[in-house]
Amino acid sequence: MIKEKTISGSSYIGGVWLKPSGEKFSSINPVTSESTGNFYTSEEKEIELAMLKAQDAFEEYRNLSGKEIALFLNAIADEIEALGDTLLEVGHRESGLGIPRLTGERGRTCGQIRAFASIAEAGQWTQPSIDTAIPDRQPVPKPDIRRMMRPIGPVVVFGASNFPFAFGSLGGDTASALAAGNPVVVKGHPSHPETSELFAQAVAVAALKTNMPNGVFSLLQGVGNDLGAKLVQHPATQAVGFTGSFKGGKALMDIAASRPDPIPVYAEMGSINPVFIGKKALENKKQELIAGLSTSVCLGVGQFCTNPGLIVTLADDELIKGLSSQLNDNSRGVMLNKGILSAYYHGLVRLKSNPNVEWVNEVEWNENEKTPPNALFKTTIDHFINDKSLHEEIFGPVTLVVEVECEKDMLRLAKHLEGQLTATIHSDGDDDLSSKLISLLELKVGRIIFNGYPTGVDVNPSMQHGGPYPASSIGWATSVGGEAIVRFARFVAYQNIPDALLPDTLKNDNPLQLYRKLNGKYSDNVI
Ligand code: NAP
Repeated sequence: MIKEKTISGSSYIGGVWLKPSGEKFSSINPVTSESTGNFYTSEEKEIELAMLKAQDAFEEYRNLSGKEIALFLNAIADEIEALGDTLLEVGHRESGLGIPRLTGERGRTCGQIRAFASIAEAGQWTQPSIDTAIPDRQPVPKPDIRRMMRPIGPVVVFGASNFPFAFGSLGGDTASALAAGNPVVVKGHPSHPETSELFAQAVAVAALKTNMPNGVFSLLQGVGNDLGAKLVQHPATQAVGFTGSFKGGKALMDIAASRPDPIPVYAEMGSINPVFIGKKALENKKQELIAGLSTSVCLGVGQFCTNPGLIVTLADDELIKGLSSQLNDNSRGVMLNKGILSAYYHGLVRLKSNPNVEWVNEVEWNENEKTPPNALFKTTIDHFINDKSLHEEIFGPVTLVVEVECEKDMLRLAKHLEGQLTATIHSDGDDDLSSKLISLLELKVGRIIFNGYPTGVDVNPSMQHGGPYPASSIGWATSVGGEAIVRFARFVAYQNIPDALLPDTLKNDNPLQLYRKLNGKYSDNVI
């Protein structure tokens, strides 16, 4: 039983719980359509307060040690766990994702917060580099230059609808921005305001326990584009983290670029994640591919930005028949919210009405069904290349098979792809094709997967979750894994600064025992 009294409908702003005066909205259960709670959209007054408090907090927070920041982050993870089953039940009620999935996602969320705590404490992420002076260098003396990454200031985070925990109010964007030494203002996703409030409660307790400045974290609840736009426009905002639609991400990029002082927007906006099947893989692993691909397409009702939305293969009736019946056999699920469900149906209707595309496994369906069909479409390479609408992501359990006549066509298709989060190659000794595809795809995608499936993004320091535009706004950046932290920092070089005035990271006696680039070579030496 969920303890209703634990959720007040307030926003958490600068260390205080407030009820904003803007548009009222509720949390909607996507399974039952029941609404609970009264939430209010934050307006100008609340935005101003949150951003000014964040700016004030930055003065103190940016000078805390990595150890102090780690204590705060670890306390947040502990407080999330202390929310117990309430968090899981509320998360399920708002997303329909199910307790087992959300239990795993909670583990991932706390795991990544603790990982960022370790990264902050270790301090290696700041990439220290020291070039010592050579006073008698000719023709001019060489100065002492020491460089490291420093935090940038308040970061605005837009949580994703499809990962209410791991990419939500306290997801990877928030954890990495806090770990780097920046206050965070979250624009809560309107699909799960209760979950967001519970997370804010966890931060409030953690901040109190670890003496963090008021304003280090704020949660502004709300519906409508205005709130997000104003947060991005606010002069105190220094960067934005976003996961969601291309339309939303692009709108925020444009707003950020048109500020008098443009700021970076790290937007992860999705992708169709092509899967290429080599000739021998098709011959030798067909049943395995049918099972693996149909599972990956339907996982989480297809609501993953890594969903395999495009399969490129030599024409093969057995593969199509197998995929078709497997997708029809796989269970259907409820989508995250009404908007996403209706966007999915809209996408199905768009493909169905395209004369160059065939809906292979169409069953009886109607747009009032809450559990939409798992869909398989097919087309030819020329239609795919010439029709840009076929390159657009349809968020849900759907995939488009492009049938080609020869492996050369697969390379031709790869050249026409837009930026993607991932691409996958299935090979069974298809070495020549694989090598040519890898060479092409590394220009197009953030992660290349061999003999696997794109869904399931492991959280580890070498992960790249982000790809060339339009998959992400900034292709080098990752929103998953430890390297996500560098998005919210910038390099500062300190020239001829006396040792006592330098940050510990750069001091001669290397008090943090870091591996530093010292006159071009990595070492943990003192100077
Ligand atoms: P979304 O519509 O992009 O919304 C994400 C967040 O951005 C929400 O808080 C939304 O709040 C805000 N926002 C959207 N457009 C905005 C604008 N023009 N100005 C200011 N703020 C804006 O994404 P969603 O609600 O999560 O899902 C909708 C669609 O996004 C899906 O159908 C799917 O296509 C795609 N999606 C992609 C991913 C991915 O991983 N890349 C994940 C989830 C969804 P307001 O609506 O209150 O303004």
